[in-house]
Amino acid sequence: MHGIRIVMKVCPTCSQWNSPKAAYKGVCGWCAYIPLCEDLELAAERDDAA
Ligand SMILES: [Zn+2]
Repeated sequence: MHGIRIVMKVCPTCSQWNSPKAAYKGVCGWCAYIPLCEDLELAAERDDAA
């Protein structure tokens, strides 16, 4: 998945703003939830800024 970085900013399960480090890994830092593909579509952001 080049050009797209999976960053889960807000966990769909616990609705918490994720910590940057956990968000970068695509895992919720609160409940350790790993989003499914359909969830990633919501959370994925383009890597334009980097
Ligand atoms: Zn969570």
